[in-house]
Formats: sequence, structure tokens, C-alpha cells
Amino acid sequence: MRKILIVGGGTAGWMTAALFGKLFQGLYDIELVESEAIGTVGVGEATIPPIKKYNELIQLDEAEFMRRTQATFKLGIQFVDWTPGETYIHAFGVIGQDWEWLRCHQYWLRANQRGRAADFAKYSINASAALANKFMHARQEMKESPISHIIHAFQFDASLYAKYLRSLAEQHGVVRTEGRIVDVQMAENGDIASVTLEGDRKIEADFFIDCSGFRGLLIEQTLKTGYEDWSQWLPCDRAMAVPCARTDPLSPLTRATAREPGWQWRIPLQHRTGNGLVYSSKHIDDDAAEKLLLANLDGQQLANPNRLRFTSGKRRKMWNRNCVALGLAAGFLEPLESTSIHLVQSAAIRLVRLFPDAATDQATIDEFNRQCNFEWERVRDFIVLHYWGNKRDGGFWEYCRKMELPETLQRKIDLWRSNGRVFRENEELFTEDSWIQVFIGHGILPRGHDPLVAIKSDVQIEQFLGNIETTIARCVSVLPEHAEYIRKYCPADPIP
Ligand SMILES: Cc1cc2nc3c(=O)[nH]c(=O)nc-3n(C[C@H](O)[C@H](O)[C@H](O)COP(=O)(O)OP(=O)(O)OC[C@H]3O[C@@H](n4cnc5c(N)ncnc54)[C@H](O)[C@@H]3O)c2cc1C
Repeated sequence: MRKILIVGGGTAGWMTAALFGKLFQGLYDIELVESEAIGTVGVGEATIPPIKKYNELIQLDEAEFMRRTQATFKLGIQFVDWTPGETYIHAFGVIGQDWEWLRCHQYWLRANQRGRAADFAKYSINASAALANKFMHARQEMKESPISHIIHAFQFDASLYAKYLRSLAEQHGVVRTEGRIVDVQMAENGDIASVTLEGDRKIEADFFIDCSGFRGLLIEQTLKTGYEDWSQWLPCDRAMAVPCARTDPLSPLTRATAREPGWQWRIPLQHRTGNGLVYSSKHIDDDAAEKLLLANLDGQQLANPNRLRFTSGKRRKMWNRNCVALGLAAGFLEPLESTSIHLVQSAAIRLVRLFPDAATDQATIDEFNRQCNFEWERVRDFIVLHYWGNKRDGGFWEYCRKMELPETLQRKIDLWRSNGRVFRENEELFTEDSWIQVFIGHGILPRGHDPLVAIKSDVQIEQFLGNIETTIARCVSVLPEHAEYIRKYCPADPIP
């Protein structure tokens, strides 16, 4: 193993290059090929908290990275109209606090049965701060305060992020080559041997990372790995993205508003707001979708809509022979829970942990694929829950309510419905608090609650919940405005 070739310079390619450059400098030669003529998808602006782990690994300075990418903080996702007229937040971090054996939501379920519970968001520092457009970094030294529980991610301009990572990768010796790959050569044993660029330059390598986007130049077009189509559960197959002028106040939330044939995202950045419609082509045509999107912008439109097609699902194997697919080449789970960049990051880190000394070590390959499959399937289940749990009218939404669910998701729903219990299995991405918020937010309430709730009287439970609510409200009242915090911590240069 001497040479690694990364094919593609979108978010996936440069994230991998920055990580490998940092960790493998001096060990392997790393080259990245990208084609400006082909370009990148260029969307992908909302992230989830584990991105901070990736940032730490490449020793990225948070304020500098936020300045360079016009970034804002993100405390969660606000879901609007998935039940018509209703709104809830899936916030990062914990809800309330555990008491004796039980998690906070068990006491909330009891109080809710008696009509004595406040909105669930009031028990989350992240959700309450976000609703007030406020933000502050967690203060670990304030151990007893909810302020130590604030968990954040980022919303940023994806193309600026890729550019920034490119500069870091190049500092660590990654060589960038501009050019279009027109041919791929195989070795006798069926591995990939080299790629040929327009103009006939040939690049040989021992190990290939396919970050070529939806086309899957190596993993699919060359190795014919196959694709698991999940569109029976995730029926949206088109997206349209358009930026508009920034509006105030600057929200630390990504918003996902349900629309007739899908949903619309709104992602506030420092210099503009990103918007997009994710929809099912069986239920609306592209021109009508464009009209719907443009009719629902809250600032002046800044560019023409960018139209994208996709099939939700994943490659049958993310690692096949001497090739690993990352990013859109590996598959796509639509962006409802902002998970794609995370899936690039976690697979890249997984690859580092399982990095081969001989590219065809089958046990290593199988373990990598097993871990990826588990992670993708559980993320899929979490996204499917949002669709299935909708309470909207119309053909698209009725289909989602009636669809047969993956067995793993059905099991989770059944368990929740009995006594409000959720368990996080192995390295599942979404926490119990995430599942609980989506269940409650969608109005999917269990038949009962944990019987151990009865160890506390209703008066004690109301006092317990009341204290959490009051403490959180008091903390939020002293937090700075999100826009003000950004102005001091990481103001980006205005875009000329
Ligand atoms: C509608 C939509 C919304 C999204 N929103 C989010 C979000 O909010 N949060 C999130 O985490 N993720 C989101 N994503 C996903 C995110 O955008 C992608 O995961 C991310 O951009 C990775 O893309 P990529 O690098 O795999 O592919 P691309 O951006 O398509 O890059 C492919 C690269 O391969 C190169 N290439 C291809 N073919 C050749 C060739 N023949 N020769 C040379 N080079 C070649 C291209 O030049 C390019 O550099 C979203 C995706 C979509 C489609």
C-alpha cells in the first residue's frame, strides 16, 4: 500500500482528503482528482453534532472554520405542519433530567395524561434557546446548569466548506489534479488498477476512494456493485435548491416544513438563507415544484433553482475490492435529518480504524460493510418514522402512513407504543432523546408510561417538571442572541 487515489472533490472527497492528509502524511501518497467541468452537488448545508469530532481530528479551529464558511450554529431541526398547524423541535442533547430510574419523558407522559404537562420543548435547553433565537457554547464548568448541556452543530455553505478543507488537505501534502476521468483500468484479479484522464494521463494507485457523487464512477460504473433501493420507504426522488436573502432574526435551527408532495428546508447562514424542496415526482412535476418552492421563500431569490434527482438507498457494499465509496457514491438518504455529511465522516473514520495493509483482506472489508449497513439502516428507520407518523391529507402522505415499515422500525414503534420505552442499540446514530422527541412531536403517544413512575406522586412529578421548566427558562433569559454571538465569535467577511 503506497498510493491512495481519491476520485472526486465534493464535500466527500475533500473531507476524506483532509482527514487522510492529517493522519497519513508521510505514510502514503494521496492524490485527489476532480473535474471543474463536472462540478459538485454543492448543497448540504446542515449538520449534526458529531461533526465536532471530525473537526477535532483534523484540528480545525471552530471560529476560523465558521468565518470561512459563512456558518451559523444549529441547535436542532424544527418540523412544521407534519401534523397540519403544528410545530415541534427535534433538538440535540438531552431532555430534562433523569430522576431515580427513569428518564424525564416518563414523568412527562404521566403529567400529559392528566393534562398537566407543558410543551415538550420547554424541557430542552437546546429547543428553548432555539425558539428564542439565542445561543451560547456549553459551559462545562456550570455542571448543575442546563447551560452545560447545550449541544451544537453547524449550518454552512457546502461549497465554501469543501474549499476550506481543500486548503487544509493540500497543506498536509494531498496532491490535487484537475481533470476528467474518461476510463478506468482493471487488474487481472478484478481490482481497480488505474484511471485515465482526458488528454491520456494515467494515474495508478493501490487503493481507491470513490467520491464521484451519484454516478459512482468506480464503485458502480466499474465494479457493478449494485444498489439497494429504499424508495418504497423514502418515496421522495427529486430536490430543488435555491438561496434567498438572509432575514432576521437569525435562527439557530434548520426548518423542515411539510408541503403537499414532500417538504421544504430552510437553513439560515450568515450571508444568505438556503432553501430547497424535496419531493416525489409521482405527485408533482418539476415546474409545479419550482413554483411551490419559489412561492415560499422568506427573502429575495438570489439564484436560479438547482434541480437534482436521486433514489434513496445505498450501495450493496460500500467497500468492494480495493475501492471504498463515500458520500453520494455510497448512497443517499434524503436530507430530512441532515445526515449525509455525517455518514461521510463516520465512514471515513471507520475506514481509518480498519485501514488495510493488503487491500483485499476480506475480513476487514466485511466488517466495514457490516458497520456501514447497520448505521445506514438505523438512520433510514429514523427518517422513515417522520414520514410514517404524518397526519396530513393527500395521496403522498396517505401512502407514507400506510406503507409497510422495515421490521427494525416496526419493533421500535411497537415498544414505544406500549410504555414509552426506547433503547439505543450498539453504535446507532440517533439517541433515545431524538426518537422520543420525534414520537411525541408527531403525536405518536404510548398507551401508558413506565409503571415505575408510580413511585412518585403526581404532586412530586409536577414539581419536578415545573423546576426543570423554570430553570431552563431562566437560563435562556440570560443567553445572548444567536446573531450577536456570531458577530462577536466568528463574523464572516461579506461576500463581494
Ligand atoms: C438535495 C440535497 C440536500 C442535501 N442536504 C444536506 C444537508 O443538509 N446536510 C448534509 O449533511 N448533507 C446534505 N446533502 C448531502 C451532501 O450534499 C452530500 O453528501 C455531499 O455534498 C457529498 O457529495 P459528494 O462529494 O459525494 O458528491 P459531489 O458533490 O457530486 O462531488 C462529486 C465529485 O466527483 C467529481 N467527479 C465526478 N465524476 C468525475 C470524473 N469522471 N472525473 C473527475 N471527477 C469526477 C466531481 O467533479 C466532483 O468533484 C444533501 C444532498 C442533496 C442532494
